[in-house]
Amino acid sequence: AKDFGIDEAMKALGLEASNHGTSTGNNSFGSGEEIISSSPVDGAEIAKVSTTTQEDYEKVMKAAGNAFKQWRTMPAPQRGEVVRQFGEELRRLKEPLGKLVSYEMGKSYQEGLGEVQEMIDICDFAVGLSRQLHGLTMHSERPGHRMYEQYHSLGIVGIISAFNFPVAVWAWNTALAWVCGDVCIWKPSEKTPLCGVACQNIIAKVLKDNDLPEGISCLINGDYKVGEMMTTDKRIPLVSATGSTRMGKIVAAKVGERLGKSLLELGGNNAIIVTPDADIKMTVIGAVFGAVGTAGQRCTSTRRLIIHESMYDKVKNAVVDAYKQLKIGNPLDENNHVGPLIDTDAVAGYNNAREQVVKQGGKLIVEGGVLEGAGYESGCYVKPAIAEAENHMEIVQHETFAPVLYLLKYSGDVENAIDIQNDVAQGLSSAIMTNNLREAERFLSVAGSDCGIANVNIGTSGAEIGGAFGGEKDTGGGRESGSDAWKVYMRRQTNTINYTTDLPLAQGIKFDL
Ligand code: NAD
Repeated sequence: AKDFGIDEAMKALGLEASNHGTSTGNNSFGSGEEIISSSPVDGAEIAKVSTTTQEDYEKVMKAAGNAFKQWRTMPAPQRGEVVRQFGEELRRLKEPLGKLVSYEMGKSYQEGLGEVQEMIDICDFAVGLSRQLHGLTMHSERPGHRMYEQYHSLGIVGIISAFNFPVAVWAWNTALAWVCGDVCIWKPSEKTPLCGVACQNIIAKVLKDNDLPEGISCLINGDYKVGEMMTTDKRIPLVSATGSTRMGKIVAAKVGERLGKSLLELGGNNAIIVTPDADIKMTVIGAVFGAVGTAGQRCTSTRRLIIHESMYDKVKNAVVDAYKQLKIGNPLDENNHVGPLIDTDAVAGYNNAREQVVKQGGKLIVEGGVLEGAGYESGCYVKPAIAEAENHMEIVQHETFAPVLYLLKYSGDVENAIDIQNDVAQGLSSAIMTNNLREAERFLSVAGSDCGIANVNIGTSGAEIGGAFGGEKDTGGGRESGSDAWKVYMRRQTNTINYTTDLPLAQGIKFDL
């Protein structure tokens, strides 16, 4: 990794010391046991990060609570200015941060840079938003009355994030929450804790330069037990949680029990429908990038290709051919297409899916396998696999977070393909490849895809920050990022003002004294 400038990148991010604590907003450190951050790229230990104890957590909460009182009264465009400066710092540190993401998580350097670019983009979006946090005005039914609604800051927002987008998901939440006047406490994945510390270092400097308390952005570290400190804490009105459906169900129950709000961004089981009118070249690019990009570890990764029987062999052969070109290896080396999985547990999940699909009646047509030998010492590198399968198979219904692509066949109308695509528990991303207007519109109609994201002639993976991002059903129903996703970070208040000397009641009710 030294050849790829990791040491310099860490230095630029203020990560020189190998032991990193938890920022509590007043610079004291986490005092719990240490977690080791190791790289799936070469298996090396990168650093130790100390975890947050209940006692540390109380300090963090105090710092966040105090910071909120100051931050919420600062005019939103001024908060936007702070977020603008944060975006500038991200521009300055794009390369080192992109590199750290690649090294700690295992995605390609290009994708690491792409993740930081998403952070920059959401900052730009949030700066504009800081002048547009508007509610509606309504006409009152009572004379001499004015009625309107306004959005106020919510409070402390808890953010729990997954390993696969170790920095961007945090920014999607914080950039919006900050201009909305909230303060944030972030628990990154225990698999990518160093990315969390790096981001905290970046925002801490911006806050300091602006003479603002670091409690506006707090970091806590550890596994689900540390996450639970927030989900069960009534002082946190909103918990935004990104990760598996299994985690989302537990988080939703805990937060719901105390009538808090949760924003859930959970697993997907995304499909591309390939109709007889599809452009084969575009289909292959979309499907292959969707299935093997980030080694199949995106929530929007393509898991299923639903191909019309008339096109089936043609598409199958083209995709199988494309898989032969894939170069697997160190993701920091830009010649490689596919990097490692996050850890050996993920490799076990990948092997299990390949076994199960055969046991359940499917057929592996690109067998895949775990790579060994020079360059693959971490044990996390696998070859992307393809299986012919049927949608009802248990393994196809399940999100395996690895590069295993299932080919499914449909016959007849596009309705049949849409039925197959919707017949899974998850509802995140979906796509149709077609030049037929009727098929495309049918897919986008109320009787079409049931996912939060539905694309035409684009794959399932990769989204722009301008739209609201999220999915339905087992994906959790939350929306983040663009459009009006900001509203979840605020509380809405309806105000009615009487500027007369009478007190008429609503609905014409008479109450004479
Ligand atoms: P995970 O569910 O194992 O962990 C995610 C986070 O939740 C981690 O920070 C973990 O510590 C925390 N956590 C786990 N149990 C918890 C509990 N009971 N209480 C509080 N916190 C808890 O997920 P992962 O393996 O890191 O990520 C992969 C999953 O994330 C996939 O299913 C993927 O589809 C999903 N994902 C979804 C989106 C989206 O936007 N929809 C984005 C990225 C990843």
